[in-house]
Amino acid sequence: MMINHRKELVRRLLNAGYIRTDSVRRAMESVPREEFIPDNVKQYAYVDQPLPIGHGQTISAPHMVAIICEELEIDEGMKILEIGTGFGYNAAVVADIVGKKGHVYSIERLSDLADKARDNLKRTGYSDRVSVIVADGTSGFKEESPFDRIYVTAGAPDIPEPLKEQLKIGGKLLAPVGQSDFTQELFIVEKKAQGKYKVRSLGGVAFVPLIGKHGWPEK
Ligand code: SAM
Repeated sequence: MMINHRKELVRRLLNAGYIRTDSVRRAMESVPREEFIPDNVKQYAYVDQPLPIGHGQTISAPHMVAIICEELEIDEGMKILEIGTGFGYNAAVVADIVGKKGHVYSIERLSDLADKARDNLKRTGYSDRVSVIVADGTSGFKEESPFDRIYVTAGAPDIPEPLKEQLKIGGKLLAPVGQSDFTQELFIVEKKAQGKYKVRSLGGVAFVPLIGKHGWPEK
């Protein structure tokens, strides 16, 4: 039943142009989104919208996950850093694409959400490819840097400097940036050389705030 809903959603994302490659299509057809959603909203697992996961946080809409994967051109074997694990859905889709030779390091500041994400990733078979770390992701994850790709799933007043530093040369970083807490512009940044970046806007988005040392202060 759920598998048919999943295939139908992927078909709609393909028709709308959000999914452009076979690798993203396959990953979004494989990862059971319903396993990354709280029971009270599970029936909306295949509606293309963000859903609440508690603590005022959300699981991103499927079209946003598709945009992130396509714009970053995620490929097999890559080392990825995600800031904002939530319930782990986006990390699972990315883990599916990078395969057994790649790895996803995902940082979440709320330990309740990180615990849930670890359970969800284990149950769905992705836990060996995703490490969930409880920390302030605005400082990145220096121990495992540099990364092929970095993406931030919460909005900050600017792109945290440590994330730019921890990106490989030739690597890509995606982050929502804006001066208001809940509306931002989505930017994709390509690191051309040490300290040299090419920045492109992908348009307006609405993410929850990135709270931390290089983000918004906690209220
Ligand atoms: N990637 C998630 C998914 O797959 O649906 C979406 C997560 S939600 C839109 C953003 C998450 O970022 C929230 O869980 C929030 O707690 C987390 N967050 C906010 N500030 C953070 C920070 N400084 N470090 C790590 N996580 C942070």
